[in-house]
Amino acid sequence: MSDSLRARTRLFVAQPLAAGASLMLERPQTHYLAHVMRVAAGEAVLLFNGRDGEWLGRVDALPKAGARLTVESRLRPQAPESDLWLLAAPIKRDRIDLVAEKAAELGVSRLVPVFTRRTAMTRVNTERLAAHMVEAAEQCGRLTVPEMADPVALDKALAGWPTGRVLLFLDESGGGCPMAEVVAALPDGPAAVLVGPEGGFSDDERRLLAGLPFARPVGLGPRILRAETAAIVALALWQALKGDWRRPDAGP
Ligand code: SAH
Repeated sequence: MSDSLRARTRLFVAQPLAAGASLMLERPQTHYLAHVMRVAAGEAVLLFNGRDGEWLGRVDALPKAGARLTVESRLRPQAPESDLWLLAAPIKRDRIDLVAEKAAELGVSRLVPVFTRRTAMTRVNTERLAAHMVEAAEQCGRLTVPEMADPVALDKALAGWPTGRVLLFLDESGGGCPMAEVVAALPDGPAAVLVGPEGGFSDDERRLLAGLPFARPVGLGPRILRAETAAIVALALWQALKGDWRRPDAGP
């Protein structure tokens, strides 16, 4: 079996990747490599940094202070990925962790925690969420890690909205059109999904969103879903209809 098939471990690194480059890993990643993945010196690993594609690397030595690796050859060039943001109201720890992990697997490019009127959580541990996204990106084979944005109030996020990005607002009130119909009719282009907290959106928030030209209220059927379920299915639906689950010749 070739090294690239045998490499069991895929690591996201910050350093530039080029043939012959040597890397030194930080302590936590060294610990993960040696004690969680049980990789030994001489073994191959896969490396990516979000910029230079995917590379085959070789572990030279594993001292506690920092494993040393040599970058060998490029296996995949960097390629464009879906431009899909997820704006999610913070929910309980295990559930928001799940959302971060699944967002990474489902090809989200940016995760934005948004505080809404009925958000019960007062803070978000973005470091922990970012770590979950790195792990999910390593595991699922994508060539980037989603950007972890700073938490922001919903009205601020909407006030600074970038032109050209459609906002698919998951509206549990039944006021939106079925999401599949709305997404199927969209032109290709950047998008964002907005999911509310356990308590849902307030009427004021719904009214604010209804008045914005870039926002489209969408529904996910007659049942009220948990926020994490709503986020996951909405991302899947967008990827299937407008994103990278389509045939490669169907466009970006
Ligand atoms: N407590 C609220 C439910 C909130 S569900 C109530 O009882 O009405 C959490 C979030 O998931 C919602 O704010 C919405 O963004 C999304 N969501 C859940 N079910 C949905 C549905 N059927 N259609 C669209 N969005 C939904």
